[in-house]
Amino acid sequence: MKKVCTIPELKREIRRVKDEHKTIGFVPTMGFLHEGHLSLLRKAKRQTDYLVTSIFVNPIQFAPGEDLDKYPQDLDGDTARAAQEGCDLLYLPRKEDLYPPGFTSYVEVSGLSETLCGKTRPGHFRGVTTVVNKLFNLVEPDRAFFGQKDAQQCLIIKKMVEDLDMNLKVVVCPIVREKNGLAMSSRNSYLDSREKEAATVLYRSLLFAERLIEQGERDPATVREKTASFISREPLAKIEYLELVNSSSLKGIAEIKGNILIALAVRIGRTRLIDNMIMEV
Ligand code: AMP
Repeated sequence: MKKVCTIPELKREIRRVKDEHKTIGFVPTMGFLHEGHLSLLRKAKRQTDYLVTSIFVNPIQFAPGEDLDKYPQDLDGDTARAAQEGCDLLYLPRKEDLYPPGFTSYVEVSGLSETLCGKTRPGHFRGVTTVVNKLFNLVEPDRAFFGQKDAQQCLIIKKMVEDLDMNLKVVVCPIVREKNGLAMSSRNSYLDSREKEAATVLYRSLLFAERLIEQGERDPATVREKTASFISREPLAKIEYLELVNSSSLKGIAEIKGNILIALAVRIGRTRLIDNMIMEV
């Protein structure tokens, strides 16, 4: 596995791969790789000829007071894990290369970026779409792989690719969970053992909502209310949002039917976690 940190090195390698007519698969990450990330790498490896992974904790998607400064890192471990999965090129962008002094251009997907996480983390998705756009321009992937764990991010990136005529396919991969149902996340490392147990309430609440719907409940407000009270029985959990929305527009629904997304962000102690479930009703 090759490792590059500068843009000229990256471009040289990408040019070489393109000259060999190989297809490029790309998995952008913020590092501290876990099985969720690795599932993306494996799928990319199967679907393309040359696998590029990036690790970059993108400062412009963090608001002041969020966890940018303490975001977990393990470059040696990540390098070993990526190599183990057959990653061909690990790109570790330098902050000053992606955002040189005087940088003023941003990419924004309106509408989809303004609900759910966009409401509680204003500016977050603008940071995500801007960096993903830059990384797409640099890596020139044929396919880019994202996790359903970040359902809203997947929709926003697909919309950006479509609206801006980008020449690549976005592949969405299923959520990978711990045995107890907790969706894998680098941020789970912030949790102590009591909080880890409490954090299972996210997935349990999704199953609870799913059961209500399977039993015939069709009023989103009722499902929301009952699920919120299910979560509130966990003393360490504080709901940031819990919403039932249309799974492609992310707009609120008057009745539970068709493809819906149940999405939530919950604080467990000081740690903010997200999870979601798509249901076809
Ligand atoms: P991150 O490093 O958190 O920015 O995540 C990088 C990519 O991995 C994103 O596309 C995430 O959606 C995906 N990802 C993170 N956690 C999981 C998970 N538990 N299952 C599947 N994909 C995930």
